[in-house]
Amino acid sequence: MIELRVSDVRHWTFCRRVLWHRLMMPHGVPETPKMELGRKAELAVARLEKRRTGKRYGLSRAERRFGVALESKRLGVRGVCDLVLEVPEADEPWPRFKNPPAGLARVTLRAPRRVYPVDVKRTEGGVSKHHVVQLAGYAMLLEEQEGLVAGSIGTGFVYVLPADDVVAVRLDERVRREFEGALEQIRAMLTTERFPEPTRHRGFCPQCEFVNFCGDVL
Ligand code: SF4
Repeated sequence: MIELRVSDVRHWTFCRRVLWHRLMMPHGVPETPKMELGRKAELAVARLEKRRTGKRYGLSRAERRFGVALESKRLGVRGVCDLVLEVPEADEPWPRFKNPPAGLARVTLRAPRRVYPVDVKRTEGGVSKHHVVQLAGYAMLLEEQEGLVAGSIGTGFVYVLPADDVVAVRLDERVRREFEGALEQIRAMLTTERFPEPTRHRGFCPQCEFVNFCGDVL
């Protein structure tokens, strides 16, 4: 099986040609100012996040792990998730609100261990499909690597810069299937060497590092 990275699926979902250029052609394109900015922003936020608690994500008991290396033998994919939040198993009162209605007795329930992937993204346009599919990939790899039930991570977060916003994302069966489908399509492209169609988001092409190799987009 051809080994891929989780970020390959993000590129593929946004623009198939980006992945073609990255994997098939030795262009040696230098880092663009936008790429450099994104990389520095991710490093800066990792430093900032180390001083914060999981409260920002609505998970006050969460422990944080940064730069978690993940691998799935089943899917043939590797990746590094920016941040993993882990809420350990614990007893929690239910219902959670302060004054339950008369007749509703408060009980203690054993809440299972919960794990959430967090991805840091520098984007002006908010969270898009390619970010969600990438996050689903991290969730699937986390489940496999940490011995969690497949499909049990139902939520992830995108930490959006420069807005400094945390966006909760639902990671359902549909988006997981999209991640797996993209892996198949990427491997088919690498095997057949077929040049893919350009992105539908042509507004991004002028800033793309590969624009000089895509003669039909401007
Ligand atoms: S120039 Fe446009 S179509 Fe070509 S790789 Fe970049 S984003 Fe994709």
